[in-house]
Amino acid sequence: MCEKTLNIEEIFGENVFTLGKMKERLPKKVYAEVKNIIDHGGEMSLATADVVAKAMKDWAVEHGATHYTHWFQPLTGITAEKHDSFVTNPDEEGHMLMEFSGKELIKGEPDASSFPSGGLRATFEARGYTAWDITSPAFLKEDATGVILCIPTAFCSYKGEALDKKTPLLRSLEALSEQALRIVRLFGNTEATKVTASVGPEQEYFLVDRDLYLQRKDLIYTGRTLFGAPAPKGQEMDDHYFGVIKERIGSFMKDLNIELWKLGISAKTQHNEVAPAQHELAPIFNNANIAVDHNQVVMETMKKVAQRHGLACLLHEKPFAGVNGSGKHDNWSICTDNGVNLLDPGDTPNQNIQFLLVLACIIKAVDIHADLLRQSAANVGNDHRLGANEAPPAIISIFLGEQLEDVVKQLIEKGEAASCKEGERLYTGVSTLPDLMKDATDRNRTSPFAFTGNKFEFRMVGSSDSIASPNTTLNAMVAEAFCEAADILEKADNFDMAVHDLIKEYLTEHQRIIFNGNGYSEEWVAEAERRGLPNIKSMVDSVSSLTTEKAVKLFEKFHIFTRAELESRAEVLYETYAKAINIEALTMIDMAGKQLIPAVINYTTDLAASISAVSEACPEADTSAQKDLLIETSALLSESQKALKTLKKVTAAAAAAEEGEVQARAYHDTVMPVMTDLRTPLDKLEMIVDKDLWPIPSYGDLTFEV
Ligand code: ADP
Ligand code: MG
Repeated sequence: MCEKTLNIEEIFGENVFTLGKMKERLPKKVYAEVKNIIDHGGEMSLATADVVAKAMKDWAVEHGATHYTHWFQPLTGITAEKHDSFVTNPDEEGHMLMEFSGKELIKGEPDASSFPSGGLRATFEARGYTAWDITSPAFLKEDATGVILCIPTAFCSYKGEALDKKTPLLRSLEALSEQALRIVRLFGNTEATKVTASVGPEQEYFLVDRDLYLQRKDLIYTGRTLFGAPAPKGQEMDDHYFGVIKERIGSFMKDLNIELWKLGISAKTQHNEVAPAQHELAPIFNNANIAVDHNQVVMETMKKVAQRHGLACLLHEKPFAGVNGSGKHDNWSICTDNGVNLLDPGDTPNQNIQFLLVLACIIKAVDIHADLLRQSAANVGNDHRLGANEAPPAIISIFLGEQLEDVVKQLIEKGEAASCKEGERLYTGVSTLPDLMKDATDRNRTSPFAFTGNKFEFRMVGSSDSIASPNTTLNAMVAEAFCEAADILEKADNFDMAVHDLIKEYLTEHQRIIFNGNGYSEEWVAEAERRGLPNIKSMVDSVSSLTTEKAVKLFEKFHIFTRAELESRAEVLYETYAKAINIEALTMIDMAGKQLIPAVINYTTDLAASISAVSEACPEADTSAQKDLLIETSALLSESQKALKTLKKVTAAAAAAEEGEVQARAYHDTVMPVMTDLRTPLDKLEMIVDKDLWPIPSYGDLTFEV
């Protein structure tokens, strides 16, 4: 059977127009030009583009493609596509030749007016352009629509402002490369021609039965449950994490892997996560631009494959109250094109001066731009997670681990680090088991930004979010720190002394950002406040960090965002928040008013009828149990009805508020609390009302009956 003979090597990248395929299909000279532009930038002539387009189209058509699309990433956080077929006008004899020109490959013109632009684009300037991103390979998407050739593109306005997530990311990668090269040159590396950020995102998600999903308007409209009493069992037994994968889930994972491998995405690790019905997938890391594109495809493919298996994939950060939500650990490092990972400490980090300088620069950058980094992980769903003892706190800090912390301490106190703690042998105590070498550093799962061996792991990012913004921000702020260090060191008379002093200075000035303790503890919140670290609790509170003078200076200096682009993004964030909470509130109003409250009324009617019937049939019978229930239920019902009325009122008021920050705050401050007021009595009622009368599947049904 084909299942037994699945050959990953054969299918891997089958649906990608890889460099290898270009090499095979393009004339040598054209291929060399393409490769040179991918590696070093530059503009492609239209004649070359024509040749590439034809080869790409021929390959796509051979694989059944009928259409192509400029695939882009607007500020909605998801991807967008408009399909155009390769069909052209038939000739005299009625023959049609499939065509695709270089012009069509390089530039597209989707109507930009319906994408969020935060006021950058007036409605009368509807034009927007998509531009081919040659550094991310084209791929084929196969689904019910047929086979579509997807060309990764950047999306900008008529005036050239970025309207997407890719353009700033690419700009930040160029900035990082340029500044990091200055650093490695200082240490005698003359070979590297480019430096790039490598990223490996670990994607968490939930799977629930699709039929049950379709019975819940909250899941359909908002991606999370807005009502729901806890199931008798949650995650307290720790039996789901790394637990045996159920058959149905396993068969989903298998199909998902195949789809991803075909798309050249190196899906590597899969396991059950902490919460019931929660899982994780991690790919092998890639350069940041491709990693971002791939992660978008992963999320989309998860949803599609789930549907095929009668499942629904929930990517929301907090689909269920009371159990863990989902995040996306963004593993990030910096590598030169001659194979040096700048974050690899080596065996003796205390002697690795280049590593120590890079580390000191990152520590400085994270301290200075903690607010921006926090903002880059803010989205509506993540507000339910950050700081809730299941995800890092909303306070940014850096975990270095025992070994590096010790090195840093020596550097600050003595100006140099003479020694470094080493990993030791771990005795298992069983003669047949091998003794293991222990890492010099343990892990810390409560830190938002943790050093994990040869990379940092930014753990704040939400599961549904694009990882473009966090990586753009990281690249930008570290480029700035590199630039400032290089400005000083390139001028130094005595490089060794200067670099030594600079490392000590940065570490001393920014040591407050280093924290190796328990990020979930109350003490840390108080300690962080004492240290003057920002604690930005909500998405709405985080938006303003995008437009501070500090942020504008950073992003403008490296041509990543203009002030106008930053202001527009802030607007889009406020708008997104207001819209999302408005949808949640309206969904609650709908469900409470049309489903839950009527169910409670039916139940109380049945109860009342049963009291009369019992009393009539047997006047001596004790009906106090029914009466108790009726009293309790009626009280909760009245509480629900009151909250429902208030929710309608405050939602209407928020909807009428001035758009932007004022409106977002109205939803945050006045609508969200009333949503809780409505949920609380109705969740209690779910525990009382006859299960047959309760109109929506319970948490237990959803998370255990998969
Ligand atoms: P952990 O156990 O810390 O979660 P893993 O080895 O499972 O670490 O890696 C998690 C993710 O980090 C994977 O996607 C992996 O490819 C990625 N990763 C590993 N090394 C690097 C690196 N140098 N740069 C960026 N990502 C990396
Ligand atoms: Mg990890």
